[in-house]
Amino acid sequence: MTKPPMAASTTAEQERISEEAEFLEAQPFDLLAVPVIGPLLRWRHSRTALQIPLLAVSVVMIIEGLVGPTLSPKNLATVLTWVHFRGALVLAILCAGNLFCLACPFMLARNFMRKWIRPRFAWPRVLRNKWIPVGLFAAVLFFYELFGLWASPWLTAWVILGYFAAVLVVDGLFTHGTFCKFICPIGQFNFIASTASPLEVAVRDPEVCDGCTTKDCIRGRRAPSSPLVVLQRGCELALFQPAKVGNMDCTFCLDCVHACPHDNVGILSRLPAGELMSDPRRSGIGRFSRRNDISALAVVFCFGALMNALGMVSPVYTVESWLKRTLHLNSQAGVLGILFAAVIVVEPAILLGLAALLTRAWGRVKSGWLAIAVRYSYALAPLGFGMWLAHYGFHFFTGLYTIVPVTQNAFAEMGFPILGEPRWTLVGLPKTVVEPLEFGFLLLGLAGSLLISWRLAQDDSHEHPVRAFLPWGTLSIILFLCCVWLMTQPMDMRATMLAG
Ligand code: SF4
Ligand code: SF4
Repeated sequence: MTKPPMAASTTAEQERISEEAEFLEAQPFDLLAVPVIGPLLRWRHSRTALQIPLLAVSVVMIIEGLVGPTLSPKNLATVLTWVHFRGALVLAILCAGNLFCLACPFMLARNFMRKWIRPRFAWPRVLRNKWIPVGLFAAVLFFYELFGLWASPWLTAWVILGYFAAVLVVDGLFTHGTFCKFICPIGQFNFIASTASPLEVAVRDPEVCDGCTTKDCIRGRRAPSSPLVVLQRGCELALFQPAKVGNMDCTFCLDCVHACPHDNVGILSRLPAGELMSDPRRSGIGRFSRRNDISALAVVFCFGALMNALGMVSPVYTVESWLKRTLHLNSQAGVLGILFAAVIVVEPAILLGLAALLTRAWGRVKSGWLAIAVRYSYALAPLGFGMWLAHYGFHFFTGLYTIVPVTQNAFAEMGFPILGEPRWTLVGLPKTVVEPLEFGFLLLGLAGSLLISWRLAQDDSHEHPVRAFLPWGTLSIILFLCCVWLMTQPMDMRATMLAG
């Protein structure tokens, strides 16, 4: 049995929750109940077992990046980071959920550090929001373009090292999951993308929670002899299972699964993106409609997907040259700054503002335009995810086999040519296979965005739902067409031997 989201605010919302419950009743699935996979995940050290290989790979990538080949398509650090890791991450989110955070190597290093260093400070209340990670997320996209990270194994290695250092400093000073919840730009990307995932860590039977007196899923399991001894951590991200809704802020760490004394937490199937169709109060988050910071994250996630792909197609070079000539600018940072500001700040401000004003006027929605813009901004998340899937999927599939010669070469360079001569002719799947996948991802994203906008419009305007929906439906279609145009442009084959 699955839990209903807490505090349904309207009748339409309750209807939707029942629909979702019916959907789940028809297709009950709990990953933790699957033979072999379930017991493996429920094993107390499952997360560590998943993290160790990723930590080992990270160490190899750092070494390769610092002392390996300087040509990026021949270096493990660049090929793994910019071709394989990003593609595998979004595909895992699409097929299951936030699996990267589950196997996060940074958290393994942090947990090791915390055996000796106990953080003493609470993260300042004023910073308990997503504004810092939204800024960091935009900064990562900006510096990726500015410094051409895909082409520099050395810089890529330093980015990974810097990430480890940041995790250790922040979580060495501040308690709980501060880095994951309030800093990590990769985590925020995963959180917002996994709102469209088919699986969710959730309560199996809400009635069991009603009768639960210990609430170990949030408090942690303590030793009966001494409440100061924590046998199993509770949720570090402040998500209380019975009131948790969706995947936002959930790292899939499974601490709640291990802590619950009633075995009442599973990894359950749900309607993908269903959590964006209503606005209940969410544990550790509140209502999405009151979280301007998470709304900004959704917007940067969506328009950042466009900007990230735009940076790789030839028309952008023409625009950059034109900007340089017109504004007499010699600085690449300045030109890129203008482009980024235009695409991820000015453009969404105008488009979302306009759509909100039209919804307010045509649909007779009583809320202010900003509140409407915030509420509907979440509907853009699936389209943004579709674009990230199309873009990262393109690099992943077209460069799929490059891992083979690069690994052969890495072994040979270390003096162990045990894998044979590098087969540099191995590249990836042909475009005829990859292109239909790209457009499939984009169409899926569009369908999700349209459906969410429609559901929100039904909720907001009982008399004129079509009118309330039209501006957001039109916006989704315009953005979809921009995505299609971008994906049909010749794209740089960054970090592969096909790079121009
Ligand atoms: S510990 Fe288990 S049963 Fe108790 S509230 Fe948490 S999830 Fe529910
Ligand atoms: S403990 Fe919290 S972050 Fe970890 S899986 Fe459970 S709800 Fe998600």
